[in-house]
Order: sequence, then structure tokens, then C-alpha cells
Amino acid sequence: MLNKTVCITGASRGIGRAIACRFAKEGYNLILNCCHSANLLEELKDELTRQYHCQILCFVGDVGEFSFVEQMIKKSLATFKHIDILINNAGIAHIGLLSDMSIDDWNQLVATNLTSVFSTCKYTVPSMVQKKSGKIINISSIWGISGASCEVAYSACKGGINAFTKGLAKELAPSNIQVNAIACGVIDTEMNACFSAEERSALEDEIPAGRYGTPEEVAELAFSLATGHPYLTGQIITLDGGYL
Ligand code: NAP
Repeated sequence: MLNKTVCITGASRGIGRAIACRFAKEGYNLILNCCHSANLLEELKDELTRQYHCQILCFVGDVGEFSFVEQMIKKSLATFKHIDILINNAGIAHIGLLSDMSIDDWNQLVATNLTSVFSTCKYTVPSMVQKKSGKIINISSIWGISGASCEVAYSACKGGINAFTKGLAKELAPSNIQVNAIACGVIDTEMNACFSAEERSALEDEIPAGRYGTPEEVAELAFSLATGHPYLTGQIITLDGGYL
């Protein structure tokens, strides 16, 4: 068994689940989180434990809550002693005109999509610095680069993640910790299940690659970034089939 640990937020489905499967296949210990889908997370844990015999800790709770993240990381470090790779993936979308968005919706989006990244990093980085090694990968979006109409708050959060990634990369490079972000285009997950067949087809026509990306393609890039490329840091890598 590899004695390496990866922490993945939002791992019950979609991109986070695919990333969990990719790392489990290589024998990593896993720290998995989600907020609402405790059953899905337990099923994933059972499946991966049976198939790959990896050690898995599950934490069901809201990554937007600072104290929850503090406990999750402290308990994980108590069990595994070290977190080698942190993947900030949990996120929610909000589609609608900015003027129709309530302050509660705004606060929830910012807490889930951006504050969570601060909280996980705050509690994971000290042990990485002590070991002088670590990788942090933030799952971002092309909308954080270009901005999207009717997804203004989401774009702001992802733009925030991109700047956070660049700043933290500079802060941690002397400690041999690399921080990068993957700015996804349209990936085939439940986040895009709101689109009708016609809307999906129109969107696919706009993407030069002619299709949505798959969660497995994001997982493959995350795995590559997390296990190599020691001189690559502070980058926002777009994975979008040429969309942007
Ligand atoms: P998804 O299928 O909706 O999965 C989202 C995951 O995040 C679920 O596991 C969900 O678990 C978890 N989550 C949501 N709120 C949470 C909270 N407060 N605390 C803990 N976990 C929470 O979405 P996805 O497409 O895989 O998205 C994953 C990431 O990729 C997100 O950051 C998203 O912004 C980004 N991204 C996606 C796309 C795309 O086209 N799909 C494009 C660009 C960027 P629960 O259901 O249990 O809450």
C-alpha cells in the first residue's frame, strides 16, 4: 500500500467522485466529503474499499462551515498524520439574474465555493509546510476567467479561487508545495442536468471539441498535477475542449 493521503471535498458524485476513484486505484488513503448525499458517499467508500483495499475516512458536512472543516482536517491528520494532496472540488451553481439573487443565496454560494477553499487550506497547509511537500488543486471554472451572464456570483467565486491559487502558490513555493487550479469548461455531471436535450445540443455545437468533457478527464488531469510537475505552480489550467 502507498502511504499517501488525498483529501477531496464534494466527492459523492460528478468530478469529485471520479477523482476519488482515480486515486483509490493507485492505493491512496482517501478523505472524502459531501454535504447532503451521505448514502452515496458510503456506497463509494464500500465500493473503493472492496475493490482497492484503501483506507477511507468520510465526513458528511458543509465545507462552507469553518468549524466543520477545522474538525474534518484535524481528525484526518490525527488518523493519517499527513495530507499529501488537497483537492478543493465541492461547489454549487446558481443560475439567474444578479438582481434576483438574495443575500442568503450569495452568502451560501460564497461560503461553499470560496470560503471553503480558505478553510481547507488554512488547516492543511501547516503540516505540508512542516513536511516541505504537498499539492493543492482547486477545481475552478472557465467562468472565473471570462465571466458568465446569469452566473455572476459563481463567476466571482471561481475568479476568487483563481487569484487565491496564484497567491498561495507564491506563498508556498519556497516550501515545495505546488498550488494549481483546473478551470473546467462544461463537464458532464449533475451540475448541468438542468439543460434540456435541445440546450445541450446547442451548447455542444458551441464547444470546438463538439462535446462535454467527462469527470474522468478532469480526474486524469488532477491526478497528473498531483503526482508530478514539481516546477508547475500558480497555474490556472483550462480543460474545456477549446470553448474559451
Ligand atoms: P456536482 O455533480 O453537482 O457535485 C458537487 C459535489 O459537491 C457533490 O459531491 C456535492 O455533495 C458537493 N457539495 C455541494 N455543496 C457542498 C457543501 N456545502 N459541502 C460539501 N460538499 C458539497 O458538480 P460537479 O460538476 O461534479 O462539480 C464539481 C466542481 O467542479 C465544482 O466546484 C464546480 O463548480 C466545478 N465545475 C464544474 C463544471 C461542470 O460543468 N460540471 C464546470 C466548471 C467547474 P452533496 O450533494 O452531498 O452536497
